[in-house]
Amino acid sequence: MAETIAVIPGDGIGQEVIPAAIDVLETLDVDFEFVEGEAGDDVLDSRGEALPEATYELAAGADATLFGAAGETAADVILPLREAVGSFANIRPARAYPGVDSLQPETDLVFVRENTEGVYSGIEHEIADGVTTLTRVITDEASRKIAEYGFEYAEANGYDDVTVAHKANVMRTTDGQFLESVESVAEAGGHGYDEALMDALAMHLLLRPEEYGVVICPNLAGDVLSDLAAGLVGGLGLLPSANVGEDNALFEPVHGSAPDIAGEGIANPAATVFSAAMLLEHLGYGGAADRVRGAVEAVLEGGPRTPDLGGEASTDEVTAAIVDRL
Ligand code: ATP
Ligand code: MG
Repeated sequence: MAETIAVIPGDGIGQEVIPAAIDVLETLDVDFEFVEGEAGDDVLDSRGEALPEATYELAAGADATLFGAAGETAADVILPLREAVGSFANIRPARAYPGVDSLQPETDLVFVRENTEGVYSGIEHEIADGVTTLTRVITDEASRKIAEYGFEYAEANGYDDVTVAHKANVMRTTDGQFLESVESVAEAGGHGYDEALMDALAMHLLLRPEEYGVVICPNLAGDVLSDLAAGLVGGLGLLPSANVGEDNALFEPVHGSAPDIAGEGIANPAATVFSAAMLLEHLGYGGAADRVRGAVEAVLEGGPRTPDLGGEASTDEVTAAIVDRL
């Protein structure tokens, strides 16, 4: 039976890179039914809400969602969409590619970030004038889930090194819980890993990223460290991401709607095509995912390239080259 893929292009270059990724997916021998949903700034203007109920339900009921970007309304769109798919893990690979300038050409990292709790719990108070507090929530349940996902991801994708980021020397109770949960999952599954203090890890990732593979992180550490790694490989136009839930998931490029280049037809489609490859992988089409990644890598190395990577090609020309390779 065909799998249903919710397709939500959103604003700006989302309208350009999502059709590119669909072109690539349609080249493959997979049985997907694409159903398009509306969201973003223009929908807010025309309908009075950035994320119509119908789009939320579409994502919640689909087998997976491919999302582009939202502009001003980003928080009103993507946060509920992540909730619609029941996302507990945010997966952000950061890889350097031959043919693309990068600070650290040996980088091949995947951040597996817990994204439901930690300091992003939303529990903040002003307890007196000028005095504010934040409650950091770390539970055994969410920590075990992210650890299980991270170890399985490392195994399935051939990463030998798993590092667990924390700051348990200072946040003894909460990160102490995080480490205890990770350890019990590792023990039960026979997985090996290293622990690293997140501040020291930031420096090591910058200097020697090649020594690391999968990095399992609480929410804030994952947010910061994955952005740092994005800087190592150069180019927002290359970075994909996944928001994974129990039986649903949403895939999106790390970049936003890029209003400065929207409408010009020069957006780099690679981040979104790599996100589509993660979608394929997630739905069990590992072979097709490898082929898509291989085709994008070949085009990154041999061209044509979009202007963000120093080339002169359009989104359509790059997409056609990827499809050609396939
Ligand atoms: P938003 O508010 O939607 O996040 P933004 O202004 O923050 O938009 P981003 O999309 O985050 O813009 O992009 C930041 C910069 O990177 C912009 O100059 C943009 O043109 C560039 N950029 C982002 N994605 C791409 C892409 N796919 N191809 C080419 N350039 C890109
Ligand atoms: Mg942005």
